[in-house]
Order: sequence, then structure tokens, then C-alpha cells
Amino acid sequence: MLAVPLAAQTLTPALEQWKKEIEAAGVPVLVARVNHDATANTYSLPDGIEGRELFVEYLKQYDFIQQFQHMYGVMVHYKGVRETYLVMLNMARANEWQANEEAVLAHELGHAWIKSRKFPTPVYQTGLAGCLAIHTGDIAQHVLIRKELDRRSIDHRTFWFKSLDRAVEQSRTMGQPAGDDRCIRARQAAELVDVRLGLAGQEWPGRDNYEAMVKRMLPEVEPTVAEILEWMRSHDMDDVDQHRQALRFVFDRLKALAYARSAAYIL
Ligand SMILES: [Zn+2]
Repeated sequence: MLAVPLAAQTLTPALEQWKKEIEAAGVPVLVARVNHDATANTYSLPDGIEGRELFVEYLKQYDFIQQFQHMYGVMVHYKGVRETYLVMLNMARANEWQANEEAVLAHELGHAWIKSRKFPTPVYQTGLAGCLAIHTGDIAQHVLIRKELDRRSIDHRTFWFKSLDRAVEQSRTMGQPAGDDRCIRARQAAELVDVRLGLAGQEWPGRDNYEAMVKRMLPEVEPTVAEILEWMRSHDMDDVDQHRQALRFVFDRLKALAYARSAAYIL
């Protein structure tokens, strides 16, 4: 039996339109739902999806999975046998995002859209450098993505509020992260920059609780976040040169934060 209708990714009209515009620059966008087996903790793809072999290349990488498990979805720019933007949805966390699928997919299309406009992006490497590359790119790109989602009247903040509020709830029973988890500091710093830039002036009852959570869990991110915010507010991410400078500045600041001495640094 041909599993055509169910295997095909259905997109809302707003997303279908945007995907078409991105593809007009010459690179196709493929979307896949990545299934998760909780017992074996393994990820798999449905049979028969377009570009299956391209997605598989990422899903067999340990480092990629380490990052992917924290995400609702991701976009990777595949430049191998045929250039493609691969959008993957993390079905392991579907219960968290399913009601807001358009917002999740729109965000990942946004990353492909920026690639299609030839903005510079940090090169992905394995290990901590890869973590820094992801969060550096995100800080600069999310400024443009938020603006474009607003322009297209795609609601992205409802889901954002929901996931931030959920993170606050989950953190209540958690202690501070381990001092040698260097990526988590970069991830938290990038998220706080996003929140303060993207939700400024928005009605959000959870704001104080969110700020208090960061202060309790990772107070050391604050000076880095303040520095990055000042820089971002005085530069234009739509300008390719300033965008590139932003990547250099942010990468350096996140790197310093990640490598900052913690209690466990010298034994
Ligand atoms: Zn993003």
C-alpha cells in the first residue's frame, strides 16, 4: 500500500506559501517527522518520505542527537549529493508542540529562509564548538525570523509563552545544572537574549517567574546577556556586514561564558 496522504507533510496555507518563496531561490525544503522509541531511546523516520536517506545521515550522528533531543524541531542545510533544507520535527516532544505545529514549522522555515538569502552562518562543528555555533547563529537569526513571522501574521508568541512557562514549572524541582555543563550556559544565555529582545513590551504574566528561574539556575549568564543585548540593540541584523559582525561578537561572548571557570574547573 502506498502511504501517500499520511506520510506527506501537510502545511497550513501560510507555510505552504512561504515554503514556495524559499524554494524559488533554488533549494528545496523537505520536512520529516522524526519518531522516537522511548524504550530503546532511538529515533527513526517513517518509510517512504522524500529525502529519507539525507535525513538519516544526521540521525545517526551522536552529536546531532545530543542537540536534537532538546529541540522541538530543527532545520539543517544539507549540501551533499543534492542541496536541500531539511526540517525535522521531534516527535519525542510532540505532546509539547503538537497544538502549535504551525509556529514550530514556521520557525524552522525561518532558518531556511535566512539561508536562502545568503546570510553568513557559523560553521557547525562537533562538541562544544557546535553548541556555540548553534546558539550564536540563533541569536542573530531569530531577530529576523520574529520580524518576518509578524509580517506574515503567523502567531509564534503563544507557543513561545507556553514553552517558557513550562520550563519554569519544570525547573521548580531541579537543582542548578552541573558546573561542567558548558553548553547549557550558552543555551540559557541565548534564550534570555531572545526573550528580552523578542518579548519586550509584550503582555506576559510569566515574565517575572522566568527571570527569577534564570537568576536561580544560572546567575552567571547575566553579564554576558547584558553585553550581547547592548550590541544587538545597536546593530541591524538585516545588514549582511553587521550580521556577520554580530556572529563574531556573540560567538566570542558565548565562548567566554562557556569556558568561564567553574568550581569544578581545577581539581
Ligand atoms: Zn531557531
